[in-house]
Amino acid sequence: MTAPQNDARSDGPPLLQVQALSRSYPAGDGQITVLKDVDLSIRAGEMVAIVGQSGSGKSTLMNILGCLDRPSGGSYRVAGRDTRELQPDELAELRREHFGFIFQRYHLLADLPALDNVAVPAVYAGRPAQQRHERATELLQRLGLGERTHHKPGQLSGGQQQRVSIARALMNGGRVILADEPTGALDTHSGAEVMRILQELHQAGHTLIIVTHDMAVARHAQRIIELRDGEIIADGPNPEAPALPSGTPQAAQSTPAPTGVWARWSGWRDRLGEALRMAVLAMMSHRLRTFLTMLGIIIGIASVVSVVALGAGSQQKILENISSIGTNTIDIFPGSGFGDLRSGRVRTLVAADAQALSGQPYLDSVTPVVSASSTLRAGNVALSGSVSGVGEQYFRVKGVKLALGQSFGPEEEQSLAQVAVIDDNTRQQLFPDTPDPVGQVMLVDAVPVRVVGVAAPQDSAFGPGNQLNVWLPYTTVMGRLQRRSYLSSITVRVADSVSPEAAEAGLVQLLTSRHGSEDFFVRNSDTIRQTIESTTQTMTLLISSIAVISLIVGGIGVMNIMLVSVTERTREIGVRMAVGARQADIRQQFLLEAVLVCLIGGGLGIALALALGALASSSAAQLPFVFSSTAMGAAFACSTLIGVIFGYLPASSAARLDPVDALARD
Ligand code: ADP
Ligand code: MG
Repeated sequence: MTAPQNDARSDGPPLLQVQALSRSYPAGDGQITVLKDVDLSIRAGEMVAIVGQSGSGKSTLMNILGCLDRPSGGSYRVAGRDTRELQPDELAELRREHFGFIFQRYHLLADLPALDNVAVPAVYAGRPAQQRHERATELLQRLGLGERTHHKPGQLSGGQQQRVSIARALMNGGRVILADEPTGALDTHSGAEVMRILQELHQAGHTLIIVTHDMAVARHAQRIIELRDGEIIADGPNPEAPALPSGTPQAAQSTPAPTGVWARWSGWRDRLGEALRMAVLAMMSHRLRTFLTMLGIIIGIASVVSVVALGAGSQQKILENISSIGTNTIDIFPGSGFGDLRSGRVRTLVAADAQALSGQPYLDSVTPVVSASSTLRAGNVALSGSVSGVGEQYFRVKGVKLALGQSFGPEEEQSLAQVAVIDDNTRQQLFPDTPDPVGQVMLVDAVPVRVVGVAAPQDSAFGPGNQLNVWLPYTTVMGRLQRRSYLSSITVRVADSVSPEAAEAGLVQLLTSRHGSEDFFVRNSDTIRQTIESTTQTMTLLISSIAVISLIVGGIGVMNIMLVSVTERTREIGVRMAVGARQADIRQQFLLEAVLVCLIGGGLGIALALALGALASSSAAQLPFVFSSTAMGAAFACSTLIGVIFGYLPASSAARLDPVDALARD
């Protein structure tokens, strides 16, 4: 921006030119016209007073001159540019770079100290922080407020506040200063002081337009324009005007806004910083309200994160239990499926099949199984139990550990040995007085067998079995107990490096070719795992969707409070727009506030979920929580998204406000 020129005071094109201007407002069914057919031109360097009675349209005219309002008809040109053709952001640039406003009620931002109030226009103009600080300090010093730079408006007198607002008007140069009743709220002494400063600014080359109903104020101007009922009734030089000192007026100091990529980036960053600061200030000034708003987000995020963690934890626990039953086993049964009536008569599954399977590289171990229900006797105890004839690899297949003694081996299998491994249940019931029954003899039906081992108790996904289990070599069961030649089933353990599907396909092919047809069916323990996984996933999804609903409710709470915040701070928005904030700057400020509420809420929600997890895992119930960083990242992203989505509407309604409407509201 160029400094005001001396020669512009006399001749040359007018700086501000109004032609056939009118402004009307809708009122009831019709319109009321506040300004009618106003023609006016103001040259650079003039000091003009607009006078008239209250309600004559002075402020309306002033707002149009300052590009805070648009005319309803006619044209207004600033330095030759027709304002009708300018976009809102271009008008904001005009206000920012060329105009400085002084209002009757000062319109300072209450949360900011004097220095920052003065610097706001330079933030939006993208001037570097250092330069802003220096210039604001210098201006305040020049206006006699050097000691008050860190006072907030509430701590300053009216006259001091008006001087802060003059400093703000000068911050970006203030080539044209528009003052609407600048002394209206001041006592005589402060009023005179403000008029003296305005006079000095005029002498320094600024163009001044002062609206007043006070002729004593108007007498300071060189030219007086009188309005009545929206029309100019007099416009002429003021004979009583104080003489301008001779000589060249001092140029108003102002550095042009920097350009270039780096400057643009740092300007953008400063505006973001300003928006962030205002968002934090807004949140801090309504702490309880902000916290209550956040609570919805906190509860939503905490429930999503902990439900997902609990789901993952339960799934992991169940899968651990499954693997304790025997890792990746496949059971092979005769017939076409459970419930097949013929399967009792299908006798094709034989020991030789198990033999053939045990040679396969994709299987870790194989055991034939012959099951029977028998009477177990020892001493004077008789019980009914489940007797299984199994191969010597059975305990490896099932992952069963022995607590006492040992299992039977290939020799016992060969010789139909009368030996048995019993489970812990059977030990307790059959040998109540013998802690170590290894070596004891029991009767299975009528066959005496010697106990060689006791299996360690196992917890399984399906609860501790109450069955009594006794395992004999399958040869013994087939040869001595039941006299049968076929097996009840074969159980294989899949080699660790092989996928259960591949192993299943391999053994199905092998058995089919041995039997000539597929007269058996298989049950893969992996399908149980898959079922459990999908069940817990479904549950997690279900509960998560409930939690998501609570998040949405929380988001609506955020939107609600942001709308309240926008309404409350409408005048602040107006002030920011008057000093040159773009629509995007305003939108950014409110959007940031919403996002901040949600992000902090999200953070607290995650912390709450972690605390719940710690509490639950240390409590008696031992609920398994497994937190994943993905879920937490998603929760964070989710809360940001809620902030953006639910903050957008209030933020853009703030940005679309007309500066003059926003300023008028109280
Ligand atoms: P002054 O500043 O000279 O006292 P204003 O320019 O503020 O007068 O107002 C002039 C007239 O316009 C008044 O009668 C006022 O009621 C009317 N007016 C101002 N703003 C609005 C508005 N937004 N809607 C309707 N009427 C308005
Ligand atoms: Mg007025």
